[in-house]
Amino acid sequence: MKQLALAAAATLALALPAAALETPRKIVDYDIKVSLDPETKLVEGSETLKWTNPGGGPVGELRFHLYWNAFRNDRSTFFKESGGRLRSDKADTGKGWGYTDVTSMKWDGAELMKGARFESPDDGNPDDRTVLVVPLPRPVAPGETATLAIVWKAKVPKVFARAGYVRDFFFFGQWFPQIGVYEAKGRRRHAEAGWNCHQYHANSEFYADWGDWRVAITLPEKFVVGSAGALVSEKKDGGKKTLTFEQKAVHNFAFTADPRYVVVEDVFDAAKDVPKDELARAAKALGRSEADLLAGFHKVAIRLYRQPEHGAFDRRHIDAQKWALAWTGLWAFPYPYAQISIVATPEDGTGATGMEYETIYTTLSFKWMARWPLNRIHIPEMVTIHEFTHGYWMGLLASNEFEESWMDEGINTFTEFVMVDRKYGAFMTTPRGIGFTDEESNRVSALTQDHDPILANSWKYATEGSYGRNSYPQPGITIQQIRNLLGEEKFWRAFRGYAERWRFDHPTSEDFFDFMRASGNPLVADLIQKTWYGRGWVDFSVFTAETHRDDGFTGFDDAGKPVNFDPDPKKKEKKKDDKEKDDKGTWQSLVTVGRDGDIEMPATVVLTFKDKTTVTRTWDGASDWIKYRVTSSSPLVKAEVDPERRTVLDRNPWNNARYTKKHEGPSAAAKGRTYALHLVEILLSTLWGVL
Ligand SMILES: [Zn+2]
Repeated sequence: MKQLALAAAATLALALPAAALETPRKIVDYDIKVSLDPETKLVEGSETLKWTNPGGGPVGELRFHLYWNAFRNDRSTFFKESGGRLRSDKADTGKGWGYTDVTSMKWDGAELMKGARFESPDDGNPDDRTVLVVPLPRPVAPGETATLAIVWKAKVPKVFARAGYVRDFFFFGQWFPQIGVYEAKGRRRHAEAGWNCHQYHANSEFYADWGDWRVAITLPEKFVVGSAGALVSEKKDGGKKTLTFEQKAVHNFAFTADPRYVVVEDVFDAAKDVPKDELARAAKALGRSEADLLAGFHKVAIRLYRQPEHGAFDRRHIDAQKWALAWTGLWAFPYPYAQISIVATPEDGTGATGMEYETIYTTLSFKWMARWPLNRIHIPEMVTIHEFTHGYWMGLLASNEFEESWMDEGINTFTEFVMVDRKYGAFMTTPRGIGFTDEESNRVSALTQDHDPILANSWKYATEGSYGRNSYPQPGITIQQIRNLLGEEKFWRAFRGYAERWRFDHPTSEDFFDFMRASGNPLVADLIQKTWYGRGWVDFSVFTAETHRDDGFTGFDDAGKPVNFDPDPKKKEKKKDDKEKDDKGTWQSLVTVGRDGDIEMPATVVLTFKDKTTVTRTWDGASDWIKYRVTSSSPLVKAEVDPERRTVLDRNPWNNARYTKKHEGPSAAAKGRTYALHLVEILLSTLWGVL
């Protein structure tokens, strides 16, 4: 089945336009008015939605996401799948429920809600209320724009899964009745046009169409509001204020409100904030001039909304933000928007922490992380870099997170560790001075037990852990593996090629693979097939490593004459120790190296001798094992396969070296590092869900 689907996809691809878009295809236009009562947590909203049928046939019914109904009661699919828990947060099942109720939807004056119904296309759950289906009195023709007047009421849920409130902190994400995506034929390589409007699942994030937003927010005057848009007007009336924000060319709109916010402002300026060495590195790898790479940059206003007690993190978040703007601008394309808003959530609102929206995202600050020695751990910076860069892999390249979560989280994990490691080196250092890079930590996380291919619908993985593994570290490290196979120039040209081609569009997995396979490296094509569509793996190990002195011919010759030994039983045998006291002479070594798993990968094998000399062999990895016989003037002490760890997917890197009896084994420091990496793995596996 999978093979057939792929063949169909390949045929369709030929019909798609190959050119990148200068601006997104505008499908939606939202003009929203919303008022919030922070005491009762009740919301009243109205929106004028202009929706354009993108083509593919007349559309007789519309589909809407009512995401907050995931928090309506314990019968929702979100609750059944999550048990009311997400990441490390738990739902408040006392007073914490929330909902969205559409009270009216009119088209050309006709009320549509009378015929509306809820559907559960993914699991048939009769109690889920997150997908609203609205039949129309007549179809919307291809290319026609329907203008809908929608009125709704909502209650903000207590925050535990992205959106909600705690005290008077509010985060509004996925908060308004949002139309699903009607995919025209050919979009994301689909053979037929149709609605793509999934229920809200425990593990799923989002997918929406491009357009423009104008949002007027009314709430008490004391609130500080940060949003995805630029503030265009502010009106005050009787203790309340109405703030109007606008943002073009996005596919969602989030905002936050809290009376306690301190706003820290800064400006990204490429002339000062793009490091010279990174510019030179990018120019060389991409084969472009420095001037060409800098040409698309413009100034970006940075606003950090944070709690009064988190001042110690201001520079850390802003510096990480500037670095991420510089890096993505060089290796993908320059950030096209005028502003970016960073929200550091309060410490009792971590359900909203580490979440991405376009031009606004939430990061992490904890007071205890500001104290020595924990201030040496770059987790706040890592989260800032991670969440901002989602603005590329989920935002500007608008993938379908319901169906292909790796395209967002996995590519983002890859770019996160490249950025974090370049800027911070060891992002985590243990008190004994053992440091780890972010890439190493993800590598260790990718070694955990596997149950699924990378590619699956987000609600169809075996476990939440398998969703996490196959959305974050496994695709992140597999992309790093492709980078190692292609080399810097080929890889980064393919990577930037993918980013530029699919900017403002909706790529699918095969669009990314096409760029990676373009160089014609058969190992890359094989790796993609075995990991994204299968559960392929690889493990190099050294089976045996032996060394012995070569005394020349020893024993009886054909004539029965003893050679090199004395057969007289009365004579004492020469002590072996005396002979082996020095290592002079000729040595024979035999090493067997193996590769388990079904992913073919080349490797180098390095033999190290007591006199510190080494012998390096290249193995194509096409067979299951290989033997090396080596004659040397010093005994072999260590045989190691892939000592540079080019095969980052190696499932067990701790069996890659073997010591002969001539050596005491790995150093205490090497052992300590191994154990400490295991600890990092445990820590990071709890972080996947947070990011
Ligand atoms: Zn993420």
